[in-house]
Amino acid sequence: MYGAEELAKVDNVRFAWGPAALADICIERIRSFRNEIDGAVFDTYLAGQKKLSELGLEGATVVMAAMSAPLYEMPVEMGGRTSYALVPPTYIDDEDLIRKADGAVGEAFGKATPIRAPFKTLAVVLGLAKYGRNNVAYVPGMGSYVRLRCYIASKRAGSASAGMERLLEKDMGADFLAEGCEGCGTCEAACPTGAIGNKGFMLDAGRCITLANESSNELPGWYEAGFDRCLVGCMRCQEICPMNEGMLKVVRLEAGLDEDQASWVLHGKGDPDGRIKAGVSRVLEENGMSYLEDVFHRNMRRLGLAGRL
Ligand code: SF4
Ligand code: SF4
Repeated sequence: MYGAEELAKVDNVRFAWGPAALADICIERIRSFRNEIDGAVFDTYLAGQKKLSELGLEGATVVMAAMSAPLYEMPVEMGGRTSYALVPPTYIDDEDLIRKADGAVGEAFGKATPIRAPFKTLAVVLGLAKYGRNNVAYVPGMGSYVRLRCYIASKRAGSASAGMERLLEKDMGADFLAEGCEGCGTCEAACPTGAIGNKGFMLDAGRCITLANESSNELPGWYEAGFDRCLVGCMRCQEICPMNEGMLKVVRLEAGLDEDQASWVLHGKGDPDGRIKAGVSRVLEENGMSYLEDVFHRNMRRLGLAGRL
């Protein structure tokens, strides 16, 4: 173990690490769920994951960081009052915390590069997190309000053992499920679409509000007006979860929509010279939300119609 003490001192971040071969085992594991995960969701989020052995990195170390992530409130001025559009944890990066985590991993492991990986599964098999029934990763002391980040570092943390290979045979729904889920069912009852619980451990991702409204594709037929609650995502199964009690931090964003911008976004008020459009883009940029521009107008209008603003 290198630098574990330094890593333990980083506020609001927890770390775990192990042989890079573990990441490949997680990818294998996820591929084995191909028939249990909605085809479109699998193709969009999971199919492109490359194994580290395919990149010649199987001898390296993977490091996972779990960073505390707050709920953000974006101000929206309307009719002389201020409303707030909710942006759930993980949609906005906390750049300072990411820098701190990157720096600590660099100190402990030398050169460490952030990579794409099956974050949740890897965090779970490294012992950093447990799965909830809602398939979200829960980290002790942070709940599920975490941003996960993975690094590959050239220092070796050992090689994959037969014990690790056996992770492929484990039952995610039993062996890695948080103790708190036993006998609970709160999230299943709170989920308005029935996405939790109807297919065993795996969430029915094809009926999850989050995955639907994150996409700029037309919303599916089952998506009802009352489902809109956040600017993107859903939060219901996390907010109601007893393991998250007292864990949610809320941060109010400084940049928000003024009256003209809100009226343009929500009601299509004219913008002959493009000034309002440019202003809205600036607000998104300032908040680190430019990547949401494709869904922003649709989701904001739906929030307005749902009376959530
Ligand atoms: S609500 Fe209950 S069952 Fe669902 S993730 Fe939380 S503890 Fe587990
Ligand atoms: S995010 Fe919403 S729709 Fe998806 S599983 Fe949780 S409660 Fe259900």
